[in-house]
Amino acid sequence: MTSSNDPLRVAVVGGGVAGLAVAAALRQQGHIVEIFEASDTNNEPGFGVTIPPNGIKALEALQGQRENILPIEWKQVQFGLHSGSSDLVCCIDNEKYQAVFVHRGDKPPDSFNMEYYPSAFGQYWVVCSRIGLHSELKRLAFGEQHEHPPCIIHLSCFTLSCDPEQGTITLKDGQKLQFDLVIGADGIKSRIRQSINPTLPGPSATGICVFRFTIGKHRLLECLPEFEWIKKDELAGPRILLAGGSRNIFMYAINCPERGEVFNLTVMCEDKRDQAISKWRVDVPRETMLALFHDFDTKWQKLLNLAPPIVSLWQLRALEPIQPWARRKACILGDAAHAMFQILGQGAAQSLEDALLLRTLLPLGTPRSAIPEILKCFEEIRQPRVHSIQKLSIEQMLSPVKNSDYLRSLELQTPIMGYDVVNELSLCQFSSISEGKEGGEMVSPASPPVVSGPKKPCSASKVYEEL
Ligand SMILES: Cc1cc2nc3c(=O)[nH]c(=O)nc-3n(C[C@H](O)[C@H](O)[C@H](O)COP(=O)(O)OP(=O)(O)OC[C@H]3O[C@@H](n4cnc5c(N)ncnc54)[C@H](O)[C@@H]3O)c2cc1C
Repeated sequence: MTSSNDPLRVAVVGGGVAGLAVAAALRQQGHIVEIFEASDTNNEPGFGVTIPPNGIKALEALQGQRENILPIEWKQVQFGLHSGSSDLVCCIDNEKYQAVFVHRGDKPPDSFNMEYYPSAFGQYWVVCSRIGLHSELKRLAFGEQHEHPPCIIHLSCFTLSCDPEQGTITLKDGQKLQFDLVIGADGIKSRIRQSINPTLPGPSATGICVFRFTIGKHRLLECLPEFEWIKKDELAGPRILLAGGSRNIFMYAINCPERGEVFNLTVMCEDKRDQAISKWRVDVPRETMLALFHDFDTKWQKLLNLAPPIVSLWQLRALEPIQPWARRKACILGDAAHAMFQILGQGAAQSLEDALLLRTLLPLGTPRSAIPEILKCFEEIRQPRVHSIQKLSIEQMLSPVKNSDYLRSLELQTPIMGYDVVNELSLCQFSSISEGKEGGEMVSPASPPVVSGPKKPCSASKVYEEL
């Protein structure tokens, strides 16, 4: 029998957004958390990440400070044509808000006003640097501000597999370590997903790829003074430039803690390589990208020409909804469980929501024998919502007819961005059990609750079944 405040020993595999978030969440309950991270620095590249209103709510519920991530609020989305004929980037001078989206198709939609977001969803959709988000989550996981001991991180620790029955992980150097709970936050290529169920399908190839890079604001102003909108002090909202087929340029400003104001560019096009055999991420010369956009208007080519000489090229991949996410003493979350297309901007937000639910389900004093059931409960509560969002992201990304519907449809947006994680978690009513078959006693609701499952489904589940 465990005493009522016996902390669990938890291994978190992967120190990205999902790993840091769940580590911080379980630290807040008083558990002992060790992170095993494959890289030797656990630093993020200085690209941007978009965080919609439900993601900000989740960050704050995790005790994160919104202002610490240096957010830029999106108040409008602007579209332009690859031909340059609509001249949106240049004429944006008269516009109050700033950012460029370049969208598919030859007919750009009207610009979308996003000023209704605070009244509809309580927050604006914001963008920040990945470094900023990562730093804030590191503060929560490792900072001294919390009463419970900080998490521990082991760098250069590639985890090969885990044994969900035993709660062990095996590292690349052969070490085998045992924990009460193993959480796989090891991203889209997750090893822990394979250990939970080796037959689960991996992320499919899409035939689409993206170049990602940033350009400093000063350099843009110096080299492209005709981009008047960039001079604005208030940089709010993305700009999307579109061409036929799958080519588009998506551009927005971020505040980077180390570099100040920079513009984040995601340049998407068809991937003519055989994605099954090519690397998921490679560095390529800028000229490779320029050649693919040779028919874009000169001003867009000038913009792309400001990319660094070597840019990173990513295959765009996503998971279809998968089941299970958990087996006995192991579970997955974040991209390991539900890597999705970034078109809805929900990847980071969903990882934060995952972490918060695990915090709710695993209070201090949770008996070890209840872990398998609790992890099943985690799946039951999260999957209806997350699977629906995954499906929508696939539909929006891959269907030319549906593409960008999400930006105009309050009906599609409301269940996703209007979701209030704190409210939803408080709606989950759980039956309290104790150690069950191993001889534990029933615990009263006043004791630390151990969860066997929601008595009533989360309201979000219902909404998502209807999506
Ligand atoms: C090009 C691109 C653009 C994106 N844009 C957005 C966006 O705008 N908004 C948004 O919300 N989301 C976006 N996402 C998705 C978002 O980044 C993720 O959904 C989110 O960060 C959660 O990721 P994660 O922590 O689960 O995985 P990752 O960020 O992949 O982190 C996994 C971590 O695990 C480590 N690791 C991997 N394997 C092992 C192993 N075997 N052992 C130990 N450690 C391991 C890795 O080194 C890494 O640190 C984007 C993703 C991509 C690829």
